[in-house]
Amino acid sequence: MIDLRSDTVTRPSEAMRQAMYQAEVGDDVYGDDPTVNALQALACKLTGKEAALFLPTGTQANLVALLSHCERGEEYIVGQKAHNYMYEAGGAAVLGSIQPQPLEMADDGTLPLDKVAAAIKADDIHFARTRLLSLENTHSGKVLPLDYLQRAFAFTREKGLALHIDGARILNAAVSLGVPLSDITCYCDTLTICLSKGLGAPVGSLLCGSAEYIKRANRWRKMTGGGMRQSGILAAAGIYALENNVQRLQDDHDNARWLEQQLRAIGVEIAAPGAQTNVLYLHQSAEMAARLGPWMREHGVLISAGPLTRLITHIDISRQDLQTVVELWQRFLQQQD
Ligand SMILES: *Cc1c(COP(=O)(O)O)cnc(C)c1O
Repeated sequence: MIDLRSDTVTRPSEAMRQAMYQAEVGDDVYGDDPTVNALQALACKLTGKEAALFLPTGTQANLVALLSHCERGEEYIVGQKAHNYMYEAGGAAVLGSIQPQPLEMADDGTLPLDKVAAAIKADDIHFARTRLLSLENTHSGKVLPLDYLQRAFAFTREKGLALHIDGARILNAAVSLGVPLSDITCYCDTLTICLSKGLGAPVGSLLCGSAEYIKRANRWRKMTGGGMRQSGILAAAGIYALENNVQRLQDDHDNARWLEQQLRAIGVEIAAPGAQTNVLYLHQSAEMAARLGPWMREHGVLISAGPLTRLITHIDISRQDLQTVVELWQRFLQQQD
């Protein structure tokens, strides 16, 4: 199947599996797993942060991040459609008694700083205490501009807030901008990175920050059930991904751009033209979408078809696969008239 539903569907390559097979392991709860330690050290080198922590999922990494920033009765300012507000089952509120303060995001995925300023609560017994600004990079495939991040970071220093970046796809942002990751991560206190999306690892995320912060996070990771044992087997896939699969993200971006042009040429309505990374959005009628999804599946292509359809390119999708998808799409459209 040609699977365009997400970049989480990638399967570990032969070489990645070899790296996993050969990984030296120990008990990571004791801090004894050399491969996990090597992955965390690599994350520090790439992000310029003092310390890093390997976690099973991006959702848990974001949860642990929020629990380590905010205490009960405190709040984080976050985008209305941000993953760590919308798509993580309310974990910070449920498990941490942390209040989200969601704000409408601008079209480019930023949170306008004047709106953030207006949402910061005064020191008053009526209010939750505002502690954190949480941004997402990339958001819906959009790369946050560096000058925005620079302003946001300075703004949070001025306001006494911490700045977290949910960087599930932050390496897509770095590759798209053509800068080292640390040119982005210098504008945040903490960040998460998903190894199991475009980077092609089967499992795993990283949380990076100061040594003191990560020490706190390690306790929360244990409490939330994320303390793994011989997890070097999984960390080896992460190291392989960071060493081999970062620059090739450019292929996914080029493929998304190519697919956008091809689909536009056959009359498909592109929702947000100018794909910057590996995500493409299309508009179509609900009736059309209801027919398209099953038809594509019958012909070997998996997409989450809806009025707003999201297509994602990744390491297991070739240009040839996309050629096939465009041909099928054209045949489907011809049958509609
Ligand atoms: C996928 C994703 C996550 C969560 O990752 P999981 O590993 O699926 O839990 C967090 N934030 C963003 C922006 C994501 O895209």
